[in-house]
Amino acid sequence: MSQTSRRASLRAVVLLAGSLAVAAALTLRAPISAQGDAMTVDQVMQMPKIDAHAHIGAVSPGHLRAFIAFLEQYNLRWLNICVGGMDWARLSRQIGSAQALHAAQPDRIAWATSFTVTNWGQADWAKAANATIDDGFAGGAVAVKIWKDVGMVLKDPDGKYVMADDPRLDPVFSALAKNGRTLVAHLGEPRNCWLPVDQMTVDGDRRYFAEHPEYHGLLHPEIPDYEAQVAARDRMLERHPTLRVVGCHLGSLEYDVDELAKRLDKYPNLAVDLSARIVHLQIQPRAKVRAFLMKYQDRLLYGTDAQFGRGSGAEGADPTKALARLAATYESDAKWFATDQELAMENVRAGFKSRGVALPGPVLRKLYDENARKWYPGL
Ligand SMILES: [Zn+2]
Repeated sequence: MSQTSRRASLRAVVLLAGSLAVAAALTLRAPISAQGDAMTVDQVMQMPKIDAHAHIGAVSPGHLRAFIAFLEQYNLRWLNICVGGMDWARLSRQIGSAQALHAAQPDRIAWATSFTVTNWGQADWAKAANATIDDGFAGGAVAVKIWKDVGMVLKDPDGKYVMADDPRLDPVFSALAKNGRTLVAHLGEPRNCWLPVDQMTVDGDRRYFAEHPEYHGLLHPEIPDYEAQVAARDRMLERHPTLRVVGCHLGSLEYDVDELAKRLDKYPNLAVDLSARIVHLQIQPRAKVRAFLMKYQDRLLYGTDAQFGRGSGAEGADPTKALARLAATYESDAKWFATDQELAMENVRAGFKSRGVALPGPVLRKLYDENARKWYPGL
């Protein structure tokens, strides 16, 4: 429709329906024209995307082929993150396999290495950790993971837990900062971990901690609590202002975007991934969450914490089922980020619905792709 005929038809509407109806129609239309850069779910599915937090277990050649075809179909690249610093044998197997997967499929699989704390307290610990990290980067790693075993498992001989701001970790963090490498930091757990099961905010956490009492912080008062974990992480960020850090799982501040915003304001070297915590955005007030996503659009990385391959539950044996589940996750997330549809969130509780935040296209491209490349150089 030309400008002239559009104006003419608008005049006709004014004559036919009266000014009040037109005002209402224009009000309805205004946000749509302001969001002319909106994307459909299909467009999100087709654009290049990075899942900036995922894990690949042992996988047979046949399953790997199915998995790569899936990544191609959804235009996805996975950042496969190695974890498990308390068990060097297991971690070194993961490192070997992650490096080999990246070498075989560099276009679709990137990887993050980690370092051992098995030999913590020995004189050459930091040297050995840095050597592992150097090897990883030589093998194409784009980041280094520090896991929650620092803060929640690793202890000194006197029984005190080793926290993230322990000065003995400094040689590792300083070397990362000096070499411009990114630290992926999963430190602490969701606040729900330290609450009674009936006070947890989402069914997913209620189920997980009921099934895994060994990880339920409330039942382990000897482990430093939620506030202590977050405070140690914050002090670590403060001690290393030139170290680039991506905090996993909304930086363990999933329960309130205002709390997370305070840290993003205070620590310009911090970004966070959204993995396994999108549900915690979906239960907070929509307007507040949307304003947060818009304001910090350069500091947020999409991720799922999805797993593929052995070690990822019963579905690991059946790639078709596992991939269908992954597809459902990607589609549901894309609907929530790109549209304002009301979506059922069974992971919160039966019957719970959350309306999507309808982010504009440029913000979606940052969230799904550009931010990961910026915060993980070489990805
Ligand atoms: Zn993870």
